[in-house]
Formats: sequence, structure tokens, C-alpha cells
Amino acid sequence: MPIMSAAERILIVGAGQAGARAAEALRGAGFAGEVGLIGDEPELPYERPALSKGVLLGEEAADTTRIHPAEFYREQRIALHVGVRAEAISPGSRSVLLSDGVRLDYDKLLLCTGSRVRPLIGADDSLGGLHYLRTLADCARLARELQPGRRMVVIGGGFIGLEVASSAAKRGLAVTVVERQSSLLERALPADIAAHVERLHRERGVAVRTGAAVARIAGDAAGKRVAAVEFTDGSALPADLVVVGIGIIPNTELAEAAGAESADGVVVDEYGCTSVEGIWAAGDVTNHFNPILGRRVRLESWQNAQNQAIAVARNMVQDPQPYAEVPWFWSDQHGVNIQMAGVAEARAQTVWRGEPGTTRALAFSLLDGRVVCAVAFNAGGEMRFVRKLIETRAQAPAAALADIGYKLKDLVKNLAAEGAAA
Ligand SMILES: Cc1cc2nc3c(=O)[nH]c(=O)nc-3n(C[C@H](O)[C@H](O)[C@H](O)COP(=O)(O)OP(=O)(O)OC[C@H]3O[C@@H](n4cnc5c(N)ncnc54)[C@H](O)[C@@H]3O)c2cc1C
Repeated sequence: MPIMSAAERILIVGAGQAGARAAEALRGAGFAGEVGLIGDEPELPYERPALSKGVLLGEEAADTTRIHPAEFYREQRIALHVGVRAEAISPGSRSVLLSDGVRLDYDKLLLCTGSRVRPLIGADDSLGGLHYLRTLADCARLARELQPGRRMVVIGGGFIGLEVASSAAKRGLAVTVVERQSSLLERALPADIAAHVERLHRERGVAVRTGAAVARIAGDAAGKRVAAVEFTDGSALPADLVVVGIGIIPNTELAEAAGAESADGVVVDEYGCTSVEGIWAAGDVTNHFNPILGRRVRLESWQNAQNQAIAVARNMVQDPQPYAEVPWFWSDQHGVNIQMAGVAEARAQTVWRGEPGTTRALAFSLLDGRVVCAVAFNAGGEMRFVRKLIETRAQAPAAALADIGYKLKDLVKNLAAEGAAA
């Protein structure tokens, strides 16, 4: 049963995926008070994954990314303020000051301010052909430049950079991915699993340079467009366009200025509460406690943006329940669907199920005999069993995991039965 009255006001700052799903969940939970959703992008809330995939390639219309049409917000009595920024929170008087000078009062505040791209220090942002990718506007700008035969350098071998590389290669550009670390996806995957992704890119004609530290992006003679990427070892790669994908920075400043604890994201508990009374947070911006992992994580994923936001919104108006899910992420590169569950651990050992060189395989990451993370290549159907293995922390024999004749479904069932009998 809803526990707030119809006179109460909930404000949500950040009209991205988390903000929009939270607003929807408040109504779904029966909250009858006022709901305000504030976003600084001049857009209806939208999802970002297709911006490096179908929308970038023009295979999907930008409109398909919208979470809801405008009527939805009207029908649900969600006051949508887009193209306006929340400048400051006054936690004492419970109000938010907007960039247009309007001050909105709240009883409860949810911060879904997400994250922004990490800039490449020293790069001249005014150079034509230099791109970052976060918003629909970024996507439209980059899409216009994807012309066959052009040379593209992608700085950063993380998921976004690799998806852009894959899309550009499909479009017929000559693509090089450069990564400062010794392997791609260094933050996300164990090196031997990331090597499989690197092989996939090389096989599809993308050049990969790891251990390559960028010194600067050189402009052309007129200083108008990018001309080359120069490295600290003195080498250079000519480029017609450069995409920088070196990670994101959580937008914590608003919360911090309001006194909320922040440490690589706004610190929240498993219910989404910040350290400030009356303020919750969800989505990319949070560093939250995950009860399954038994530790804090900051996730940058569709799943977390959606499900944490829904859980926290419900917690704001109902009896609180912890948000506890095995982290899950997907990526599409060169026609291969890559899904990842859990969180990679440095000391883990990899067990392959299926041949690593083939396009359909699963890689398990085991720590002390337990699956802590797994990556599925064109094997997304197995993910629900993989998530169960991670969630239950069962001791999973490496031989059983590697045996493609032993169905994961049966393994999960048998391990659960053994656990119950023990
Ligand atoms: C190109 C791309 C591809 C991706 N692909 C995948 C994928 O394949 N799989 C996957 O799992 N995840 C993917 N992701 C990640 C996923 O999209 C993000 O994790 C998700 O968007 C996070 O949602 P969010 O609402 O927390 O934050 P955001 O999407 O960042 O939304 C936050 C919004 O709040 C606004 N805002 C910030 N501060 C203020 C303020 N003070 N006032 C008003 N508004 C403010 C921001 O401008 C933004 O519009 C991708 C991301 C990108 C960029």
C-alpha cells in the first residue's frame, strides 16, 4: 500500500533512463502525489544503447530510443521539465533551483543525474572530426561523418569505443582502436576473455593497438580538423575522424553540493538512500551496496539504470526492499552478441565452455571455485542459469562448467539439490 498522501511531491532530477523509469514506477506503485521530472537535454527521456549501434548506423530511427511518447507523461501526471538544469538543492527547505530561475519544492528527491563522457585532457574540442558519444545529438553528429573509406581512430578500448569501431567498420571505414592498457576492456573483463574480443575485431578488419598512450590529437594545417593521433612513443596515426571513448564521470556535483557522501559515485545503500535525509539516488550516478556481491559497485548499464531506478522509486513510497541483482550488461560487436554477468575479479581463473576462437562460447570466471563473472558470446540464452550460479555462490566444478554436454540448467538444478542436502 502506498504510504504517501496525494498532497506530497516527489522530484526527480535527471530525465534519462533511470529518471523516466522511476517516474513511471512511482505511478505504478500507486503514488498519487505530484511527480516532477527535470532533464537538461532538450529531449524526451530516451535510452542510449542504440546510439553506438542501430541508430548510429541509421538502421534504427532516433525516435525508437524514446522511453515513452509525450502523451504518457501527460496522462500519468508527470510534470516533465526538459531543457532545464537543476542548479542547486536546498536540503533544509527541500527545494531545487532550476536554471530558468524557477524553484521547485519537494518532499522527497531522487537524483538520476547519470554520467558524462570523460574528456581527453589537452584535446582541442573545436577541431572538426573529434567526437565523443553520449547523447542523441552526439550520435547524429558522428553518424553524419561515417563515410566509407575514411580513417577513424577510436581512442579507448572499452565497450562504447568497441561498439563504435564495429559500427564504423560495417560502414566501410578503416578503423584503428587504440588503448593505453595492455588489453582491451581492461576494466570490465579478465584479459584472456578480452583477448577473444580483440581477436573478433582483428578478424573483422579493425586494427588494434594496445599499450598505446596518446600524446595529442594533431589538427590539419588550417587547424580546423583532426589530422592525426600522436603517441608518446613518437609514432602517429593519420585520422579523418577521432572518437574518444575513455570512460565516463558520474554527475555527482549536485548531490555533493547538497552534502551527500560521494566516492566514485553518490554513495547509496541497498535501498537507494543517500546520506542526506529525503534524498535518494539511482542509475549510473550511484555507488551502491549490492547484497549479492557483498560490496559496493558503480555500474554503467541499462539494467542498473532501469531496475535500480524502479526499485528505489518504489522504496520512496512503499515498504523498502533491497535492490539486489546480479549485474548484467550486453554489447553487440561485429554481429556478435556479448553478454556479461557478475563482476570481474583480478585473481579469478577462466574456464571456457565451447571453443574460445568460435563465435558461440561462454567464459566463466571462477574465484575459489565459485563463478563470479561470466561472458556469453552469442549464447545469451544461457545467461539466466549463469546469473543463478553467481547469485547462489555455489561451488561449481570447472569440469562441469566446461562440459558442453552437461546442460547449465541441469548443473544449476543439481548444485541447488546438493546445497539443500548438505
Ligand atoms: C552510446 C552508449 C551505448 C550504450 N550501450 C549499452 C549497452 O549496450 N548495454 C548496456 O547495458 N548499457 C549501455 N549503455 C549504458 C546505459 O545507456 C547507461 O548506463 C544508462 O543510460 C544510464 O542511465 P541513467 O539514467 O542513470 O543516466 P543517463 O543516461 O546519463 O541520464 C542522466 C540524465 O540526467 C541529466 N542531468 C544530469 N545532471 C542534471 C541536472 N543537474 N539537471 C538536469 N538534468 C541533469 C543528463 O544530462 C542525462 O540526460 C550505453 C551508453 C551509451 C552512452
